[in-house]
Amino acid sequence: MQIKAFAAQSATTPLALTTIDRRAPGDEDVAIEILYCGVCHSDLHTARGEWPGIRFPAVPGHEIIGRVTAVGQKVSKFKTGAVVGVGCLVDSCRHCAPCAAGLEQYCDNGATLTYNGHLFGTGENTYGGYSAAIVVDQRFVLSIRHGENDLAATAPLLCAGITTWSPLRHWKAGPGKKVGIVGIGGLGHMGIKLSHALGAHTVAFTTSANKQRAALELGADEVVVSTNPGEMAKHSNSFDLIVDAVAASHDLDAFMTLLKLDGTMTLLGAPSHPHPSPAVFNFLLKRRSLAGSAIGGLPETQEMLDFCAEKGITSDVEIIKMQDIEAAYGRLLKGDVKYRFVIDMASLKAA
Ligand code: NAP
Ligand code: ZN
Ligand code: ZN
Repeated sequence: MQIKAFAAQSATTPLALTTIDRRAPGDEDVAIEILYCGVCHSDLHTARGEWPGIRFPAVPGHEIIGRVTAVGQKVSKFKTGAVVGVGCLVDSCRHCAPCAAGLEQYCDNGATLTYNGHLFGTGENTYGGYSAAIVVDQRFVLSIRHGENDLAATAPLLCAGITTWSPLRHWKAGPGKKVGIVGIGGLGHMGIKLSHALGAHTVAFTTSANKQRAALELGADEVVVSTNPGEMAKHSNSFDLIVDAVAASHDLDAFMTLLKLDGTMTLLGAPSHPHPSPAVFNFLLKRRSLAGSAIGGLPETQEMLDFCAEKGITSDVEIIKMQDIEAAYGRLLKGDVKYRFVIDMASLKAA
């Protein structure tokens, strides 16, 4: 089936209208008309070829909310007309230990990302949510319990939500824990909301002094302007967990020294250039750890979606047309978005 999509044909070509092929739904497949797709900074890294191994044409988009248009014979969980979500994964080997544990993002045989991923069997490149429709194996389709009016604001939960939820849960953010969230963008603003909702004392770190008030409104207990050494020093040796969602390379030592004994800082941001190597003594002296975390598996994504539906948590979004994606990328690079662009896919029909 040929459908409309927006693709980058190379790292230096602006995203533009094209057509792509979607497979006819197989027995285990769910065919989905895409209603909304969030704009993650990973989309921009990919479209601009900032990471190794990008295959062009690239169709980004992995924060997908849509409506089921058809299901295969073996699909019982989803019915035509249901609202569903698709996040960052559309396949995995299904038999390795991480897959068996519901951690498909860490599949030993290579997880299949929703875009710029290799489909098992064919090796075909995957195309993401900047498109009119998608066909996904039912195991990678998520149930959406948010109301119809919240669907655009629910889309970013599929990446920004789960990518912050997974480390918060893994390192047990909750009452009695002090958690830092670094970088108040798409991921960071969800990190604040979720850490707060889990009951942790939540401190937002930003390089943008003008985001201080907004960070408090998102649920932060305190806000620190990270470029101010005096403000940073007040939090030395005090954090159980710091979650770093910054999209550019930066000094890690300034944050490592804020961890208490056995504290962990986990990196989520995936900048094109490496961070400067952190100082060894900051690890030794307080048995601190520096870690990383990638998106989240299917069970934990459903857990996060259900938690958010129950607590009334969505993202703060600005809805845009597909045709305005290049202008949106320009604004994303300037940090000029509160806090996630979401594409209304109805605009693609008119393109
Ligand atoms: P975003 O909306 O652009 O937010 C990034 C934030 O980083 C900015 O709002 C800004 O916050 C801070 N920042 C500080 N200096 C910056 C600079 N020089 N350039 C850009 N940002 C700077 O991005 P996002 O969508 O949240 O994604 C953040 C990063 O996580 C990206 O690298 C993305 O690829 C990565 N990511 C990783 C995973 C994973 O699985 N680990 C999943 C999704 C995304 P302040 O103004 O508050 O300082
Ligand atoms: Zn993402
Ligand atoms: Zn696997």
